[in-house]
Parts: sequence; structure tokens; C-alpha cells
Amino acid sequence: MNINEDFYCNFVLNNKIKIEKVRETNNVLAFYHTKPNWTLHIVIIPKQHITRLTDLENTNLIKEIFEVVIDIIKEKNLSESNYKIITNGGSFQESQHLHFHLVSGEPKQFFNE
Ligand SMILES: [Zn+2]
Repeated sequence: MNINEDFYCNFVLNNKIKIEKVRETNNVLAFYHTKPNWTLHIVIIPKQHITRLTDLENTNLIKEIFEVVIDIIKEKNLSESNYKIITNGGSFQESQHLHFHLVSGEPKQFFNE
């Protein structure tokens, strides 16, 4: 696997890049996206390597991930504004480490960059 194919194991979880944590539990890390595409763009990952959503069979970990997501939504009052939770699979998934995007606000303009 190319080092860039698992950005989370190769750069985030081994502290090779600086991230701003939003929340951390024993098994889950949430942090602000390093290149945000939305006004608010948070990434939530399991700390252990899981490649894809369909490999996520540990119900305790599923629960822990969604508890973190719900806590952030509540803490930031996103139910009062807006949010989406996105996970990509198949050819849509670039980084080969399961991750969820929690986004809110406006998407950045891609077309003028
Ligand atoms: Zn990984």
C-alpha cells in the first residue's frame, strides 16, 4: 500500500502531521480536517486500522464512533443549523482507512481553485 493511501495511519495516528483534536476516546479520534472542504469539516476515525465500512464488525466500536459524532453535533449545536455525515466506499474512497466526515455550513468553491 502506498503511504498516501492510508493518510490516517501514516500521518495522523503516528503524529507525523499536526492536527487539532475535537474529541478523543479510547478507540476513536475526531479532528478538524487539515484541508477543509466545508465551513466546518471534522473527520472521525477509529484508532485501529479498519479499511472500509463493511469491515466494521465490532458493535462496541460502531457505538463509540457514533457516540463521538453525536457528542460533537450536540456540542456545536449543529441540529440548530445543519450537518451531514459522509463516508465513502468503493472507488469514492481515497484514503484506505475508514473515516467519517461530519460537515456543516457551506461547501467551499472547488471550481475557481
Ligand atoms: Zn489505517
